[in-house]
Amino acid sequence: MNLRIPGPTPLPEAVRIAAGGDAFDHRGERFEQLLRQCEARLKQFYQTESDVLVLTGSGTGGLEAALVNVLSPGQAVLAVSVGHFGERFAAVARAFGGQVTMLESEPGQALDARRVEAALAMLPEPAVLLTTHNETSTGVLNDLEAVSQVLPGPGPRRPLWLVDGVSSLGATDLPMDRWGCDVVVSASQKAWMAPAGLAFLGVSERAWEWIDRAKCPRYYWDLREARKYARKGQTPFTPAVNALAGLDAALELMVQEGLETIVQRHRDLARQTRAGLRALGFAMLASDQDASPTVTAARVPVGLSATEIKKRLLRDYGVAVAAGMGELKEQIIRVAHMGYCSEENISQLLAALKGLLPHLRNQRN
Ligand code: PLP
Repeated sequence: MNLRIPGPTPLPEAVRIAAGGDAFDHRGERFEQLLRQCEARLKQFYQTESDVLVLTGSGTGGLEAALVNVLSPGQAVLAVSVGHFGERFAAVARAFGGQVTMLESEPGQALDARRVEAALAMLPEPAVLLTTHNETSTGVLNDLEAVSQVLPGPGPRRPLWLVDGVSSLGATDLPMDRWGCDVVVSASQKAWMAPAGLAFLGVSERAWEWIDRAKCPRYYWDLREARKYARKGQTPFTPAVNALAGLDAALELMVQEGLETIVQRHRDLARQTRAGLRALGFAMLASDQDASPTVTAARVPVGLSATEIKKRLLRDYGVAVAAGMGELKEQIIRVAHMGYCSEENISQLLAALKGLLPHLRNQRN
């Protein structure tokens, strides 16, 4: 099977072996050593000196953990959304009492840092700013460096900046400290090549001040507890131990490959995917400039259905892709080149599509 959905992503053999071993004591030495090693390596990819906490939960759990730890009732929130996952981040903020102002873009478009600056200036200070780094529903990578450049410097006017890096970190450059991000969320089943079940949160010193003051109730996601236990090499509750063993093996591979090579490999895969799909008559949803390095969203040729393409690719060729989300469901397919993916995987997908499309067109006529 050529698994080209945007998560969970394929597992390298070393990761499967590590994750497929027996259970072990989460209060024991082996766990402590694994957790400390994973945290240290995650910090390298986050490019941060701050804490990176490992929680058991999905990416959405990570977004909720970020929000419940910083919100108080009525807190002004600017949610910059360029698609489905931006909307989800906003919905979680609303669910926990945030006063959310939305700043949206058309599907396939990236955020505009100047609009973010203008929208922030209209909100009571200090606001919480939510941005998605890589919008998986539309295949767009937002330019967060540009956002970092328009934010006010240190002081009460500076918003607390939460970043959804679920489908970008581990495959892209997201230097948390240099850009001044406060909480950056990611998840094991995406570019990290690890089993589903773990969420990661990079938490800045400034975020810890907010966390201590925040009034929102929290229990499972209380980051103060997570940090207290992390210092002992543990987690407050039973963690996904096998997923952590898999993550450790994946991080070993990632450290060997190196961030720069990983980033370049993802860019090259995106370029190959976009060129190949264009040659088959697909139109790209995002411009080349805004294109995601981890997932490509492509409009299907006129008269064809995205869900039919998805179904037949799997049935006839053993290739799994995703259709669109929400209103885009029938209009786009999404091809992931995230984490454990090679040029051959993409060539095989393109060859499968080339074989399939004439059949679908014939059926239609
Ligand atoms: N944010 C982004 C950008 C995502 O791509 C996803 C999952 O696809 C999520 C959040 C939610 O993650 P999960 O499905 O692990 O809860």
